[in-house]
Amino acid sequence: MWTCPACHSRVDDSFEVCWSCGTTQDGVEDPDFVTADEAEPIRDEPIEKGPPVDDPLADFAGTPLPDLVECYSAADTIEAKFVADRLMEEGIPAVADHVDINMVMGGLRPQFWGQDPKVRVRAEDLEKTRAWLAEFEQRRRHRS
Ligand SMILES: [Zn+2]
Repeated sequence: MWTCPACHSRVDDSFEVCWSCGTTQDGVEDPDFVTADEAEPIRDEPIEKGPPVDDPLADFAGTPLPDLVECYSAADTIEAKFVADRLMEEGIPAVADHVDINMVMGGLRPQFWGQDPKVRVRAEDLEKTRAWLAEFEQRRRHRS
C-alpha cells in the first residue's frame, strides 16, 4: 500500500496511479485523469429494430435443418399452407410442403416429401401441435 501524495487515499501496490485522483506515487498528477463520476455518461446506443422477435421461423434461420416431423396430411397445398399458417399464429414453427419449404429451408427438395402435402413441425413441438390439430379438426367439423 502507498498513500497518494495529492489526496492521501490509500492505494494498493498493484496500481501505478491513485485510483481516486490519478496521481502517481511520485506526486505526478495526470491531467487527463477522469474519475468515473466526471466521465461522460455512457449513452445508450439506439437499439436497431430487427425483425419482430415473435417470428417463430426465426428459430430456423441460419441453423442446420431442424428435425421436422409431419403432423398433418393435407388434401392440397392450400390446406397445408393454411394449417401451417394457423400453427405459426400459435407460435409453433411450421412448414407446409411445396409452399414454404423451399423458402424456409433454403433448397430442400420437395420431391423428398410424400405424395400428400404435409405440414411439418419440429419434433419438440409435435405434442402441442397434435393437441392444437385435434381442436382445429373439431372446430372445422362443427362449421361444416
Ligand atoms: Zn490521489
